[in-house]
Amino acid sequence: MTDSSNKDRDLQTRIVQPEDRITPGFESFSVPVARASTVVFPDLASMRSLVWSDDSKWRYGLHGTPTTIALAQRLAAIEGGEFALLQPSGLAAISNVYFGLVKAGDHVLIPDNAYGPNRDHADWLVEDFGLEATYYDPMTGAGIADSIRPNTKLIWLEAPGSVTMEVQDVPAIVAVARAKGIVTAIDNTYSAGLTFKPFEHGVDISVQALTKYQSGGSDILMGATITRDAELHKKLKRARMRMGIGVSADDASLVLRSLPSMKARYEAHDRTAFALAQWLKTRPEVTAVLHPALADCPGHEFYARDFTGGAGGLFSIVFDGRYTSAQVDAFVEALDLFSIGWSWGGAHSLAMPYNIRSMRTASQWPHEGVLVRFYIGLEAEADLRADLEAALAKAFA
Ligand SMILES: *Cc1c(COP(=O)(O)O)cnc(C)c1O
Repeated sequence: MTDSSNKDRDLQTRIVQPEDRITPGFESFSVPVARASTVVFPDLASMRSLVWSDDSKWRYGLHGTPTTIALAQRLAAIEGGEFALLQPSGLAAISNVYFGLVKAGDHVLIPDNAYGPNRDHADWLVEDFGLEATYYDPMTGAGIADSIRPNTKLIWLEAPGSVTMEVQDVPAIVAVARAKGIVTAIDNTYSAGLTFKPFEHGVDISVQALTKYQSGGSDILMGATITRDAELHKKLKRARMRMGIGVSADDASLVLRSLPSMKARYEAHDRTAFALAQWLKTRPEVTAVLHPALADCPGHEFYARDFTGGAGGLFSIVFDGRYTSAQVDAFVEALDLFSIGWSWGGAHSLAMPYNIRSMRTASQWPHEGVLVRFYIGLEAEADLRADLEAALAKAFA
């Protein structure tokens, strides 16, 4: 509303409402960072005509800015979806799915290999909010039918599970869910949406922790829910609005900056990870290498059937049962290039030991030995291999 009579106003007013003379026609490759809480309307009629569900109008910073919407649209395109919503973390995206789709008295099915904080979120909703939740064997396939109740509203999938790497038979589970009108949501963070396309397999919602490969820098927390269905999108959007969660344009712009290199990074992680997984398979200390492209990994056949373009940088190994937890801890701590830390998707390699038996409630974990999950970063393969070799020698001599 600022007009040219501004020059007669007080300097303070002109600082708040300046007459910018930016030359029009500027173009660059980056998406401008549109920071906003307040979005301004040209007149009251425009403001009054707003409908919360209308994606074609700007409303308030929390609901989106040109920067966050550009990111959402690109994420939807990567997965072959129509709609995407951003949340301030991957876990917030998971939470958005729960609060958007289920209520007290509803039943949810969750794979036993699910991302730990998803399990914890479900347990919280069961304890304090009247939800029913059952964990199921991730390898159940069409057997999921036996776990479905009349009040089942949502089935979670995760393929591969991000610690134990079982690849689910997604189409088999989705076929059962569709026949019963149950919504399916997959945590598709592992594939970054690049190598597994959930909507081609009939999944309704894809969840991404953008914190991982999309960010690529180990410095951003963000999540997304992606859908093809306008009604589902509306439900998720409404819940997100009511929970009051959104993301900053600055963070979104950093993710936008990393997206063009994501596929090249994913392929580089995949090359090194697969080479190291194959080498670890030859080591006498290791009982199983849980990499989806190797036969040791449950659901390897579904990976071969449903994934294209590699597995990225994440895989796990199981040590022989004769080694103690203390020895495996010593191995992890003897690593020099692998840091100890949560999350993944950045340039730096990570290693973390897990006692899986204590994490399972619905399926039998077959291995006795301790599992170590590796995230393979962008360091040179030969250096990572030498580091692993030295740590194995030190811990298991
Ligand atoms: C990291 C991760 C999440 C959660 O992402 P945050 O942004 O850390 O909350 C969800 N699912 C999987 C599989 C993850 O690896």
